[in-house]
Amino acid sequence: MIHRMLVLLLLLSGGLYAQSQIQDARAMKGGAVVLDIGHFVGGEGASAPEAVNGMTLRECEFWYRYAGVVKEVIKRAGWNCIITNRGFAPTREPLASFARKAGVIQLRRPDAGGKRTPSRYHPDRVGSGMVSADYAIWKRATCIVFLHLNSTGSRWASGGRSVILCNHFNGRGLATSICRALDNEVLNHGMPNGGRGCSVEVRRVDADRAAGWLNACDDSGIPAAVVEAAFVNNLAHAEYLTRNAGATAFAQAIGHGIVNFLRSDTTPHHVRKNENVPDVGSFGYAAESRHLNVPGAKRLLH
Ligand SMILES: [Zn+2]
Repeated sequence: MIHRMLVLLLLLSGGLYAQSQIQDARAMKGGAVVLDIGHFVGGEGASAPEAVNGMTLRECEFWYRYAGVVKEVIKRAGWNCIITNRGFAPTREPLASFARKAGVIQLRRPDAGGKRTPSRYHPDRVGSGMVSADYAIWKRATCIVFLHLNSTGSRWASGGRSVILCNHFNGRGLATSICRALDNEVLNHGMPNGGRGCSVEVRRVDADRAAGWLNACDDSGIPAAVVEAAFVNNLAHAEYLTRNAGATAFAQAIGHGIVNFLRSDTTPHHVRKNENVPDVGSFGYAAESRHLNVPGAKRLLH
């Protein structure tokens, strides 16, 4: 009996050891990529002026439906991937099924109404939806990509510049790689874009949208990018993205961009040295944010 138990214990510990080796190998290949669905139930983001192909293109719904496609590309290439959303789990269909299928981790702190909160790790970084950046920092993510669709208004318009926003120190390689993949596979290749390509835009001043999250990630050495490459109110884009083949190609291209970045990313990441030295991104530093009252935020004035 004791013998048998010993054998069982040895087998069990061997199994656990093998499991931990697998996890170590994954961690060595870069831990987890975090994909964040940018909008949430109750704050769905932008939507198309009217239905196309029988469907109204909406930011939140689109990414609940297709973030799993991006995740699959990343997982197939050997990286762990986590999908997050700052809101609560959707209860209505079809979103509820999409969320389950993609394994979305609901962070349940939507900051509804644009409420700004400081980062737990870098309290001079302030933004609405900071919880997603904090989750990536807590997870020591390899990189984080915030998934959005863009909009220029509530009527159809053909303009709009396809951009990937990114953080100053660590995000340029990631953003450039996503742009390249979109240029090669989607923009003007299936999704008409007037011959225009995608461009990279660094956001750094905390009052600018998304800059708070990007700066918090930058401080922790995490490359971060925000996808704003397609427009819900561009009829040609909507026509492309409301077809499953187009939407899948768009999501896959983002996945390819992330994977290409991970494969080529050999440079050490920049990590903030001193949390008490402000930079242009710090809360209260930029004139635009001086009048804001955000409880718990650390003001680093120059
Ligand atoms: Zn958005």
